Amino acid sequence: MNARLNHLGMAARNGQPSLKLAVLTCMDARVDPAAVLGLRPGDAHVIRNAGGRATAEALHALAISQAVLGTREVLVMHHTDCAMGRFSQSDLAQRIMAATNRPFHDELEVFTDDEAAIVEDVGRIRVYASLAHHDHVRGFLYELATDVLKEVTHP
Ligand SMILES: [Zn+2]
Repeated sequence: MNARLNHLGMAARNGQPSLKLAVLTCMDARVDPAAVLGLRPGDAHVIRNAGGRATAEALHALAISQAVLGTREVLVMHHTDCAMGRFSQSDLAQRIMAATNRPFHDELEVFTDDEAAIVEDVGRIRVYASLAHHDHVRGFLYELATDVLKEVTHP
């Protein structure tokens, strides 16, 4: 056990997030989930991908987080000025094909409306049958320019 982890409680030392929280957010380098949410090591799982989308892989990570590591709550945090909202599927596919000189046809989950994408991801998580806990799934938009976190309510 290294010294940095030793000061954490037993739950954190065995890998169970002490806040019983999993965060799904974007990989954007400007978004620092620990700073925005006030998280310390041991507090929460942080699952990141392009856009913070509730993809199949993200859902699998959440299922493991809940069933194996005891989390009970999910927080989806997207952000303003996200590349996944600024580029189209075909723009991104073209860029990947140009960079690799290979075909690319995978779905990238781009979106055009920040809040609609959050609502969609919260909805996917709430209906995902392999999650033990669906009651505390909330969505937020992090506004980069103002450093403000705004809750986006699910209809
Ligand atoms: Zn992003």
